[in-house]
Amino acid sequence: TSDAPVLKLLNVESAYGPIKAIRGVSLQVRRGEIATVLGSNGAGKTTILKTISGIIDPRKGSIEFKGEPITAQDPAFIVQQGLSHVPEGREVFPLLSVRDNLLMGAYTRKDRDGVARDIEVVFGYFPILRERAAQDAGLLSGGQQQMLAISRALMANPDLILLDEPSLGLSPKLTKEIFEIVVRINRERGTTILLVEQNANMALNASDYGYVLENGRIVMEDTCARLREKDDIKEFYLGMK
Ligand code: ATP
Repeated sequence: TSDAPVLKLLNVESAYGPIKAIRGVSLQVRRGEIATVLGSNGAGKTTILKTISGIIDPRKGSIEFKGEPITAQDPAFIVQQGLSHVPEGREVFPLLSVRDNLLMGAYTRKDRDGVARDIEVVFGYFPILRERAAQDAGLLSGGQQQMLAISRALMANPDLILLDEPSLGLSPKLTKEIFEIVVRINRERGTTILLVEQNANMALNASDYGYVLENGRIVMEDTCARLREKDDIKEFYLGMK
């Protein structure tokens, strides 16, 4: 059913040597929703995403994607299953053109017509990328690089996108623009999104369901509508009161 979780983490623990970065994280993302993990700097948000996409192998726990185990699988295999990761800091290929960066996102696909169509689709979402298509990606502004990183992930035609702190280093105006397009992508394409953010205000407004991560543990979860009304969230994450 459409209520079945597309992504399911059960008691996932990941560490860097002796440092436990996430300590028994369980969470679910339902098909078609935008879910968010809120947490301050160092809470373990990036580690969760890296563990899902196979960049870090967890010490404990299991991860299922579309009902199949993907725990500690090869990152390239996980991308092929339909899960794309937009890393923190974007990590575009600076010496490749914008268009070639997009093609890199589609490298596992054989349907050349579909790839050509999807390039047009992402240019529709981010028209500035069409204007800059032939330019080296390293010459783009930070916001444009974020747009390119999201677009590159879309080029794999994923069911689920992991989005690591899209607001990082961007002005409030650009952050708002990027969030609006992320919501459009979710609504128009039905792409499920798991977003991690320090910017709780943006994340709670854009998302359906939220988890709060502190010190590597989920301490709260609820619909974003309800999270926004909680006193702790208002005080510690939204800076109200
Ligand atoms: P940020 O927003 O700063 O990325 P975060 O919530 O994403 O924060 P993580 O990057 O997942 O947090 O880091 C979680 C913990 O793991 C932190 O204590 C951090 O110092 C530690 N950590 C992260 N990467 C490494 C690493 N490569 N080696 C050692 N410790 C690390």
